[in-house]
Amino acid sequence: MTFDTLGLAPALLRALADNGYATPTPIQQQAIPLVLSGRDVLGGAQTGTGKTAAFALPVLNRLSKETPPAGPRKPRALVLVPTRELAVQVADSFKTYGRHLKLNVTTLFGGVGMQPQVDQLRRGVDVLVACPGRLIDHLDRGSVKLDAVQVLVLDEADRMLDMGFLPAIKRILNRLPKQRQSLLFSATFEPRIKALALEFLDNPQEVQVAAQNTIAQTIAHRAHPVDGPKKRALLVEILSRRHTEQVLVFGKTKHGCNRLAEQLEESGLPAVAIHGNKSQAARQKALNEFKSGKARILVATDVAARGLDIPDLPLVINHDLPMVAEDYIHRIGRTGRNGASGEAISLVAQEEAHLLRQIQKLLGRDIAMEHVQGFEPTRAIRTDAAPFKQQPRGPRPPSRNRRPHGKPRDASAHAHAHTGQKPAQRDGQRNGRPGGERRGTRG
Ligand code: AMP
Repeated sequence: MTFDTLGLAPALLRALADNGYATPTPIQQQAIPLVLSGRDVLGGAQTGTGKTAAFALPVLNRLSKETPPAGPRKPRALVLVPTRELAVQVADSFKTYGRHLKLNVTTLFGGVGMQPQVDQLRRGVDVLVACPGRLIDHLDRGSVKLDAVQVLVLDEADRMLDMGFLPAIKRILNRLPKQRQSLLFSATFEPRIKALALEFLDNPQEVQVAAQNTIAQTIAHRAHPVDGPKKRALLVEILSRRHTEQVLVFGKTKHGCNRLAEQLEESGLPAVAIHGNKSQAARQKALNEFKSGKARILVATDVAARGLDIPDLPLVINHDLPMVAEDYIHRIGRTGRNGASGEAISLVAQEEAHLLRQIQKLLGRDIAMEHVQGFEPTRAIRTDAAPFKQQPRGPRPPSRNRRPHGKPRDASAHAHAHTGQKPAQRDGQRNGRPGGERRGTRG
């Protein structure tokens, strides 16, 4: 199959040819005709398989067919994403695919000044790519109106509908026309979130490429059991052995990532870090350096887990396992993208055994445990036999290590569980206002 058969405008086909795209990926083959037909779509496909173009191309196609009203244009397509970096990346994709169209693509996210965004909105926008928190700031100020939106896209939809973002998403939905097309895409859907997603959609068509919650076949992943205090030495050992390769290292907390990056530097392994405590300029700089290959090691919190497309990244290491099992799929999905092969290694301490079990339960299979000589744990780490225990309902457990995956009770408790901070202390959160605050990803 080629893109010509999908019914896309010649200007888009030209842009695809410029980009060297010869054939649509499976999610593109299935989703593009449906989106072009005007249907609501719930789309699931593995990480790195071309979901962005699966919604961006038909959305651009739709807008290109209309003559926009005279005067400053109000957004006709709204794309909501969970992180600022993803907003930049998704907007870049729209710009790339829409380069032969006269459409304006604008981003709104926090951590940068409001006024340039207000000016941009005043000049007119066709496609708005936004993080929920900053979009609400603009809605409250009256600097953006969403009454002309024809298409809504929730990228990383399960994250956008979890309790951290849901109140903000509901406020935004209330400002959108009832008559609209809605598109929800993600690599993971928890059943509870999926049921919620279906409430937002009108007679949706579901497109699911590969079984739900699965990892791209091109990613080889395994775990190394190790005592917690020896994790850093093991990480240094792996990074030194693989000294020519680019590596994305995931850590648990902002502070932990900072320390880890510093300690790697001290061990002669220069690393940059990205997390919610850094200024937006520093975050984007670190990511750009890593994407361009200038930086070899990036240490990140889950702010970098979703959607980021890092070309040819060979290796992801989980220094700490994620608290939420779905995040494992997203984290390791930064490698093995677009058919390339990739590798993911998780360092698993005794106290993380339950997290590994939750991940295995989500994946429906075991992850190979391989001992590294000199780093064998003092006590065997059991990840197979013990059945997954559902946490009892009731007050949130005090330790963030004990939260069952994907079961947030409210946004602030959720945030608390992830950062170990009180809700009001978390970066970017004001007066407990909802909207993307989770794990410092608030836009
Ligand atoms: P995504 O999952 O949307 O982040 O896309 C993953 C990577 O695949 C990105 O680098 C895209 O530029 C690339 N890509 C998406 N669709 C195609 C295609 N049809 N042909 C070649 N590359 C593609």
